[in-house]
Amino acid sequence: MVSHLLDIPKGTKGAGGRMNGKAHLAVGLATGIGVSYFSQSTGAEAVVITSVATIASLAPDLDTAGSLTHRLTKPFRVVNRIAFMLLLSIFFVSYLSTEVSSEMLIGGIGVLLTLLLLKRITIKFQLFIMAMVIGIIGYHYGYYSIVLFALYVGVASLLPHRSYTHSLIGLVCFSYITYQASIDFGMEPLFLAGFLGYLSHLLLDSRCIPGNRRGIKILLPFRRPIV
Ligand SMILES: [Zn+2]
Repeated sequence: MVSHLLDIPKGTKGAGGRMNGKAHLAVGLATGIGVSYFSQSTGAEAVVITSVATIASLAPDLDTAGSLTHRLTKPFRVVNRIAFMLLLSIFFVSYLSTEVSSEMLIGGIGVLLTLLLLKRITIKFQLFIMAMVIGIIGYHYGYYSIVLFALYVGVASLLPHRSYTHSLIGLVCFSYITYQASIDFGMEPLFLAGFLGYLSHLLLDSRCIPGNRRGIKILLPFRRPIV
């Protein structure tokens, strides 16, 4: 279990993930622009609607190292790197200028080792940590939809690839999140943008697209049909 969590993140430049991500991203963007156009939204609303449709079109792949996973976990890696460098410099400077007590030395080494270990955790574990951060931010500002989104991200990070996020259950859950977002942000089209964006991902991953032999188990927990 520990060795699994501490594996060097695999697929950071994801062989399949990136290419698929681009197709999902393009369809998500088009969906958002379409929903904005038909709902006669203002420019600012169109940006929010298109962002939601795009996130929805990428969200099912939060169960793997897809493009949205990389985007959401980037702050984790940046903060980790900065904290490591900062701590190392403080440590070095204080070691040169003052006397360091053995408690400080042990504490400092402990924190440095923790940061080093955090550098090596899998991208899915990084995503789980980011989900907690998103949840706390959503809760702090009172946005129920952001708390629900964080819950979705946290659960997706624990699931095997192409399982529940790629099923009707995933579609219903995510649509409910965007329904809640339409209430939180007072923008009705957000629900449709989220629903269609998510649906577009499932369609693109299904066997409807020629060459998609793997397909998705749309009725999970039932193993069949694979569409
Ligand atoms: Zn997918």
